[in-house]
Amino acid sequence: MCSRQFDDDKELDLPQDNEEAEIARLQLPEQNQSLNAQEDVEADDERIARIEFHCKECDMHELVHYYGRNPPFALGVQFREDSYVMRDPFQAPPPRWQSKSENFLALGAKCTTCAKIVCKDAACSIYYTHTYCLPCARLELKSWPVEAQAKLRKQLVAKEAGSC
Ligand SMILES: [Zn+2]
Ligand SMILES: [Zn+2]
Repeated sequence: MCSRQFDDDKELDLPQDNEEAEIARLQLPEQNQSLNAQEDVEADDERIARIEFHCKECDMHELVHYYGRNPPFALGVQFREDSYVMRDPFQAPPPRWQSKSENFLALGAKCTTCAKIVCKDAACSIYYTHTYCLPCARLELKSWPVEAQAKLRKQLVAKEAGSC
């Protein structure tokens, strides 16, 4: 059973009011990232990913930069649900005064029904108005429109065939 519940366990949540701190850190002078300059990475504090993302379905572990709906480095981006977001590791940081969005990757979100963290892989979750883990999606399926059902059925078949 996967009944609707609100998860009070905040182990992976950041306080929502840390945006100010994040913005303050964005005001540090940007440095050119170099993959072999370990010390620079240390100093370039706000670019270090510190939030743990762990997909409970496929066991993917990744450190991300942000959890929420409005990543400070992706200007103008507003997710429809709280998401785990990572800066594009291959893009040089744009100067702060340019109001230009950085590239980013949204890795996943919490299942809207059971609050389990799942990645965006088709074998782990489906997005239909919210993110659902596949086990919950299977239970909700009957109340969805036909196209959404068809999409999910395809995913479930692919998962069972192990061809992800
Ligand atoms: Zn996954
Ligand atoms: Zn679920």
